[in-house]
Amino acid sequence: ASVFGGIEIAPPIEVFNLTAQYNEDNHPQKVNLGVGAYRTDEGKPWVLPVVRTVEAQMATDVTLNHEYLPVAGMPDFRLAALRLLLGEDSPAIVENRVEGVQAIGGTGAIRLCADFCKKMLGYDSMYTSSPTWGNHLGIFKSCGYSNVKQYRYWDAQNRTIDFNGMMEDLNAAPEKTVVILHGCCHNPTGVNPTEEQLKEIGDLVERKKFMLLVDEAYQGFASGNLEQDGNTVRYFVKRGFEFFVSQSFSKNFGLYNERTGNLAIICANKDAKLRVKSQMEMVVRTTWSNSPNHGARIVASVLNNPAYYAEWKEHVKTMSDRIKMMREMLFQKLKSLGTPGKWDHIIEQKGMFSFTGLNPAQVDILMKKYHIYLLKNGRINMCALTTSNMEYVANAIHAAVT
Ligand code: PMP
Repeated sequence: ASVFGGIEIAPPIEVFNLTAQYNEDNHPQKVNLGVGAYRTDEGKPWVLPVVRTVEAQMATDVTLNHEYLPVAGMPDFRLAALRLLLGEDSPAIVENRVEGVQAIGGTGAIRLCADFCKKMLGYDSMYTSSPTWGNHLGIFKSCGYSNVKQYRYWDAQNRTIDFNGMMEDLNAAPEKTVVILHGCCHNPTGVNPTEEQLKEIGDLVERKKFMLLVDEAYQGFASGNLEQDGNTVRYFVKRGFEFFVSQSFSKNFGLYNERTGNLAIICANKDAKLRVKSQMEMVVRTTWSNSPNHGARIVASVLNNPAYYAEWKEHVKTMSDRIKMMREMLFQKLKSLGTPGKWDHIIEQKGMFSFTGLNPAQVDILMKKYHIYLLKNGRINMCALTTSNMEYVANAIHAAVT
């Protein structure tokens, strides 16, 4: 007998489970639309060329070593990440009232925020969108929040934001609530609030004194323009809010397994910033003690070098353009097949994902009959589509719908 014998087996994590199923499948035309990572038109992962360049330099640079980084992370990386997010001339940076704390990916940044708000500020309630990236719920629950809820966000009928539902639900949330918004490229819907709606959300956040956590996991993927994709965050800075932003470099640098993230904390003044930073270091210390070097060094080397930075911006544009092209192709294909329903949302949604509107029965047909793997909620990764599998996938969607 084992002391572990009574432990219930946890349910599989859907997106990793899909990939396992896909790998076991022998069908020659199988497609994995579930995976949350960029793919080239050959269906391959892409190591950005500028990342390769910097890694080659790092490999032969004898001045580098493997000493611990500061507890808050690599200074050059954190400042570069903040500048990218907020803009170089951001009042928060100029007035020295924003801190960056390096984290284990965007996930780690969210975790730091959740832990900090619970321990230092006594928050016990978190609201995130329905639907959302599932880990938002998991992280806050495992940090001990007792009120973890989702506000209405998706109007399935019209395939757009259920803005009234969202405002109603947030209005009813308790005062001391952490509210998560996606900075751009909402995962999974690809739909974000308009400027007008953002203003209303800001008014509500202000009135209810919510703590905002903006999850910025895809900066650059929506428009191909890094500045533009930072607009949600910059808007809240302009309003003078104190809030958090979790930044991930997994997608826009293709550094998925290097776990490269940053938590930006925008404070009212420098004194507040110093207080927050000191306690944030305590959270890091007891969670992973010290962040990894490799990904942070790559990001800092690129962002702090004008030539590399220019090259990287081109890479981001390449990824964002390829996603847009796949949207356009799928849309045209479904239109020419005369697939019943309205498919404009495929080209209107932003970011890596499309929330197709396919229902669970249709998803089931795609998986079982056509060996096309996607999340049960109908989310597909647009760049898992390629010019070679497009025809097959579009025909399969057509067949599943009709
Ligand atoms: N937030 C959202 C909305 C995401 O989609 C992801 C990645 N799937 C993350 C956070 C976490 O990113 P990371 O892999 O850097 O932890």
